[in-house]
Amino acid sequence: MLTGLIVIFGLLLLKLVFQVGLNSLNQRHVIANQDEIPEAFKGQIDKETYGKSTAYTLAKSKFESFELVFDTVLLAAVLWFLPKIYGAFTGLIGITVWQQTIVFIALSVVLSLPAIPLEWWEQFKLEEKFGFNKSNIKLWVTDKFKGALIGFALGAPLLYALLKFIDKFPTYWWLFGFILLFSFQLLMMVLAPMIIMPLFNKLSPLPDGELKDRLMALSDKTGFKAKTIQVIDGSKRSGHSNAFFTGFGRFRRIVLYDTLIDQLNTDELEGVLAHEIGHYKLGHVPQMLCIFGVSGFLGFWLLYWLSSNDWFYVQFGFEMIDGKVPALLLFSLSSGLFTFWLTPLTNLWSRKNEFQADAFAKNALSNADPLIRALRVLSEKNLSNLNPHPFYSSFYYSHPTIQEREKALLK
Ligand code: ZN
Repeated sequence: MLTGLIVIFGLLLLKLVFQVGLNSLNQRHVIANQDEIPEAFKGQIDKETYGKSTAYTLAKSKFESFELVFDTVLLAAVLWFLPKIYGAFTGLIGITVWQQTIVFIALSVVLSLPAIPLEWWEQFKLEEKFGFNKSNIKLWVTDKFKGALIGFALGAPLLYALLKFIDKFPTYWWLFGFILLFSFQLLMMVLAPMIIMPLFNKLSPLPDGELKDRLMALSDKTGFKAKTIQVIDGSKRSGHSNAFFTGFGRFRRIVLYDTLIDQLNTDELEGVLAHEIGHYKLGHVPQMLCIFGVSGFLGFWLLYWLSSNDWFYVQFGFEMIDGKVPALLLFSLSSGLFTFWLTPLTNLWSRKNEFQADAFAKNALSNADPLIRALRVLSEKNLSNLNPHPFYSSFYYSHPTIQEREKALLK
């Protein structure tokens, strides 16, 4: 067998064993604590809701493990047959720049098909069972088609441009490719809430009234000076609630889910808004862009270096063919096997930012109570796992656990 494939299959197996093992560690931890409501939640959450959150956590975790096995087998099969599939597609279509664009897109579509039944099961079986599914088959199918069309409309020109760069600038295409993709990311941060999200959801300004007055006053007081606060109809698809901050500079905006507004009172919503404003005021967006920028730059350089070496193609069963598409395909399929191990680092950084935004909210409201109450209500309504295994949460959680956040807020 080819060395490249052996290494990749080894990494696939290592990642699978690690992830399924970590899931089962977390499951055992949850089961061991399922009879006793955690100290911090006594009097806050009833036995029935606690039981439901445990059942939801376990059901999701088992589903994830199944999905991991499924994805691993699929990816192994795809990598094994990739040279043959690629050969068949190019034989059919050809290898000029636009033909290669079509080959790449056609392959991506084919490769995304096997996951669809799992996505359906997650939405209409798992989420449904716990009362979170608000979507229906018609909406779900429409979403899939819309998503694919938008992916095509945005992805095809980008891919075409990248392949054109490869063709015209054999030494510097990776630099131009990086600049193109990074600028696109920046543009999407501004345009997505204006153009893409409205294709799926209704975004409307928060209606006039006490809530709006209080939130706008808070926004002015903290120096955020929002022009508008938007509400998104997340309840169209899911009962889960959320709030997010997006864009930068004068394009900054805060979006609240309608489900969030239903679940929280005005004080608690102020707590959430103050937290989101904290992310902006503390410069978390430029930080994130720096991380995107550096990792994108390194990624493109690595892709360039790998694709300039003949062994890279040979080791994965490709013949010496013109074009870099095989390298692009191999890279996009297998880079996750390496970047996965950086998950705890990026999450550590993200949790640090969450603590900072919490502290900002406490300061802005001169009181930690509204945010603490909001966090408690949200973890109850979303059936969050109140007992993650510490190793599991430090690896996967982008937000500190609610106990950790409360402890820091009360300090
Ligand atoms: Zn946050």
